[in-house]
Amino acid sequence: MTSYDYDLFVIGGGSGGVRAGRLAGSMGKKVGLAEEYRMGGTCVIRGCVPKKLYVYASQFPEHFNDAAGYGWTVGESSFDWSKLVANKVTEIARLEGFYVKGLDNSKVEILRHRAVLKDAHTIELVGAGKTVTAETILIATGGHPFMDDAMPGHELCVNSDQIFDLSELPKSIVIQGGGYIAVEFAGIFNGLGVETTLIYRGKQILKNFDSDAFRLVTDSMIEKGIRIVTETKVDAVAEAEGDYRLNVTLSNGEVIAADQVLQAIGRVPNTKGLGLENAGVKQADDGSIIVDDYSRTNIENIWAVGDVTNRVQLTPVAIHEAMCFLETAFKGNPVRPDHELIPTAVFSQPEIGTVGMSEEEAAKQYANVEIYRALFRPMRNTLAGRFDKMLTKLVVDGDSRKVLGAHVVGPDAGEMAQLLGVALKAAATKDDFDRTMALHPSAAEEFVTMYTPSYRLVNGVREG
Ligand code: NDP
Repeated sequence: MTSYDYDLFVIGGGSGGVRAGRLAGSMGKKVGLAEEYRMGGTCVIRGCVPKKLYVYASQFPEHFNDAAGYGWTVGESSFDWSKLVANKVTEIARLEGFYVKGLDNSKVEILRHRAVLKDAHTIELVGAGKTVTAETILIATGGHPFMDDAMPGHELCVNSDQIFDLSELPKSIVIQGGGYIAVEFAGIFNGLGVETTLIYRGKQILKNFDSDAFRLVTDSMIEKGIRIVTETKVDAVAEAEGDYRLNVTLSNGEVIAADQVLQAIGRVPNTKGLGLENAGVKQADDGSIIVDDYSRTNIENIWAVGDVTNRVQLTPVAIHEAMCFLETAFKGNPVRPDHELIPTAVFSQPEIGTVGMSEEEAAKQYANVEIYRALFRPMRNTLAGRFDKMLTKLVVDGDSRKVLGAHVVGPDAGEMAQLLGVALKAAATKDDFDRTMALHPSAAEEFVTMYTPSYRLVNGVREG
């Protein structure tokens, strides 16, 4: 029998890789994990975590304003970007420490090097001058922001990896894209007082979400002062003299003066230079690693989880895939990752929380769809004198009564979506929602008090 240096070698110290390494280590397996940068991956170091901290930072001006209606007088306020960045750096370092500690506690050997496959069982540790062997290999290298290198002046733009650590807060920013990252950063910079323009090539930002949700978010963003320019591209970025660093030329001929341009136009898998060809691992046209239902590649002992497989680019999905991999590869209990009914949030302002089908998706698949919908002013906005509306919406199969989708726009929408996810996963019907007691006063109680359909979609045609 061949003997290897490691039972499992994990390439990549992000959410998926660390979870798999830690669990395998705690089972007594000999595990090595290579990470060339920092432990924690996109989510901890330059994604979900710092992003949410910046969302919180950007919401304080609204809280200060709202406080007046509740009797408070808030004194002069000012914002210090460099303090936010420094505090973020400290927090991220703290979290990174937990990741390292978790691996240490599970006796996983951390190798701070870039790993390149030499063959199906051999890994070169670049810079260490050595190769190691492993019986099983897990690739969890994640992805990185796509940059439009063909655009003149692209080198003057930043991506979502770089945006957190700008040396100073821009006076004006142009953000390219209409997905999660573009919309979330538009809210952050607008909240921090930066003149913010969102440039999207299509007709409607957040187009993959329920139409009620994207309409309300779009209207609210515009109301809050974000300029949204659709069906337009950024044609060129050039250095400028004067008050702003850059001139941004749009495809409609307009030139916008800005200090920063953020390209938030999707992410691509980290597979370049990994040596996949040496091991014979197959890739899709977009560079992602092709895996089967259990996250196994075409090579028997090589597996891949997370963004590098470009299935669903979300941290909890990578973690779930890693746990299923463990069951399948090491516990003799084959488990397929379940990608159905994944709750998700866009930390836009207002926030979107969603799980399951949009109205549009349901109308394509079901002959008799009922929509239950409430658009209301949440209680906290009343004394605040704020007129922002909140949306709760259920998409129901009128025949089976099964709830197909649940959508929220407004404060804590993501928190609600997490719990709605449990209900939908348990195949809750509309009757289950109806017989659940309301929790009063709350915004979430709307989900159990929408007794009458707002309208129906019969064979895709709206009635009522
Ligand atoms: P998305 O796929 O969400 O959006 C990419 C956007 O960029 C789309 O609007 C797309 O337009 C546009 N685009 C793509 N290529 C070009 C181009 N060449 N020129 C102009 N526009 C272009 O990607 P993001 O980068 O926003 O986020 C990546 C992923 O990370 C998300 O899909 C999500 O899975 C994850 N994420 C999750 C978050 C969360 O859970 N809150 C937060 C941030 C990211 P079009 O619609 O026309 O294709």
